[in-house]
Amino acid sequence: MLDIKTTKTTTPKELPDKDDPLKFGTIFTDHMFIMDYEEGKGWHDARIIPYQPISLEPSAMVFHYGQEMFEGLKAYKTEDGRILLFRPHMNAKRTNNTCRRLCIPEIPEEDFVQAIKELVKIDKAWIPTKEGTSLYIRPFIIATDPFLGVRPSHTYKFMIILSPVGPYYPEGLNPVKIWIEDEYVRAVKGGIGEAKAGGNYVASLKAQIKAYEEGYSQVLWLDGVHRKYIEEVGAMNIFFKINNVVVTPKLNGSILPGVTRDSVIKMCNHWGIKVEERLISIDEVYNAHKDGLLEEVFGTGTAAVISPVGHLRWENHIMQVEDGGIGPLSQKLYNTLTGIQLGKIEDVYNW
Ligand code: PMP
Repeated sequence: MLDIKTTKTTTPKELPDKDDPLKFGTIFTDHMFIMDYEEGKGWHDARIIPYQPISLEPSAMVFHYGQEMFEGLKAYKTEDGRILLFRPHMNAKRTNNTCRRLCIPEIPEEDFVQAIKELVKIDKAWIPTKEGTSLYIRPFIIATDPFLGVRPSHTYKFMIILSPVGPYYPEGLNPVKIWIEDEYVRAVKGGIGEAKAGGNYVASLKAQIKAYEEGYSQVLWLDGVHRKYIEEVGAMNIFFKINNVVVTPKLNGSILPGVTRDSVIKMCNHWGIKVEERLISIDEVYNAHKDGLLEEVFGTGTAAVISPVGHLRWENHIMQVEDGGIGPLSQKLYNTLTGIQLGKIEDVYNW
């Protein structure tokens, strides 16, 4: 159990208007959580302070070798005023998997969740309630040793910031257009693809810009070795419904194990819908579309929850899915998941 010292702001900011559609990740709340790590001392000095800039040496290792990790989850306010977090222990576990891969000291799972709970409670007035909005929680760890040699840092900062958000894609639940990338790759097995490391996202920017310029919202990555098997989307895992079977790429070491992915698999299983976690080649998807068997495609992630894909482009081939509309399974998953997250539907999974 952390002993968290709290210093409240004396100059609270104005809350966003309750009808503000809230762009993703642009506004931050009044407070932040911060905790330091030193070798020998461990994690210490847990505190909640007013949201503010931090001061670091220009030589801090995070600026040079990118020893950094982050997480993302959301808090929701129910109609009767309760605050709900969605599966925060999954994010705590994933944090520690990432930490092990990046040689960052782990954070006890209970401490991670406690820090989030206390911070969200202090800034609870910032949890928006308009449909499609929530409070996005961004925990992250940076390496702070003032040192230019390449080795794991001996000192770190763990911080949490909060941002009231609307839909991740301006399209909302409307289908997005996805660009299947055949030039650049995001990650390979043995690398850091399954860790939530900033480095994976910088590796994705070049292709993302290319996709934007062509009018696409995100990139779908193929595997880095064969350039053939589907991996995941920029900030989402991906599912295909082919001939009445739901298929998603198996976790192979280069894909982020999404909390939403896991939730979707559990919900489908609960409903008696079979989900196959396996290799899926782009040819299989292309042929399924050609044969009229590609029934639905959707992405899953904390930010967008369920994001139907209406249009895929692979080389010069365009695949239009569900006539560009929202498929019935995507809609049912979205309704159920957001219903559980908002406390409107009974949570039989204890999430
Ligand atoms: N893949 C990547 C690369 C992501 O950044 C995310 C978002 N965290 C996801 C998948 C989905 O993960 P989750 O459902 O835990 O948000």
